[in-house]
Amino acid sequence: LVEAVNLHKHFHGVDVLKGIDMTVAEGEVVCLLGPSGSGKTTFLRCINQLEIFDGGRLYVDGELLGLRESGTALHRLPDKQIARQRRQIGMVFQRFNLFPHKTALQNVIEGPVQVGGVSKKQAVSEARELLERVGLSERADHYPAQLSGGQQQRVAIARALAMKPKLMLFDEPTSALDPELVGEVLAVMRELAADGMTMVVVTHEIAFARDVADRVVFMDGGVVVESGPPAEVIRNPQHERTKTFLSRII
Ligand code: ATP
Repeated sequence: LVEAVNLHKHFHGVDVLKGIDMTVAEGEVVCLLGPSGSGKTTFLRCINQLEIFDGGRLYVDGELLGLRESGTALHRLPDKQIARQRRQIGMVFQRFNLFPHKTALQNVIEGPVQVGGVSKKQAVSEARELLERVGLSERADHYPAQLSGGQQQRVAIARALAMKPKLMLFDEPTSALDPELVGEVLAVMRELAADGMTMVVVTHEIAFARDVADRVVFMDGGVVVESGPPAEVIRNPQHERTKTFLSRII
């Protein structure tokens, strides 16, 4: 479903992604591990076109992202088409980024109604189902400030799902939470994975990666150092850099 080919990104002359090659199959859960600054967030932001990559190609569901090829030349797609591509991808951030002046339900229907062309009635009915799925039916009319961090993050997941994405990206979704709230968010993500959602998850939650990921990708210094089933990469890492990183966080 996702294919990155020799993906490059630099900021002010500093190479942050130095040729990432990665594929994510439909229904697969890939956890990205790696030290701070290794480029994990930047990679996710390129997939969601929050960043414009400088080189290489990214495909989602066979469609080239952000670019149109004509002959040997590449042109940037018009904003409208980029917006259409972005709608197919859900993203959940470290900080929940909910609209503070809208209730949980209003946050969830915002996308479908404003950009998805869905009627308000239908959006509300789907939003209620989604809130139930993340265990928050009772909180539909609460404002973000009235919800715990874990509840806000679950609303953020429901809001991303409301756009019926082909793919969900999670950028350290539990790292801003108090430890006792981490489990409830991971539980929702586990269910999503079990339901067959394709997911790319940047996380330091090794237990989650070990139990839920089909594949773990270890990044360092803007490259993929190693990748494989969690049992191999986590229990028996091949590269020194992976060993050092894991020994620090386990
Ligand atoms: P973390 O776990 O700390 O989020 P990460 O692996 O996700 O780390 P990135 O956030 O992708 O790493 O950052 C990779 C490098 O790119 C860092 O050195 C960061 O300072 C730099 N960087 C990221 N975004 C920008 C930006 N908008 N402008 C300049 N430099 C940036």
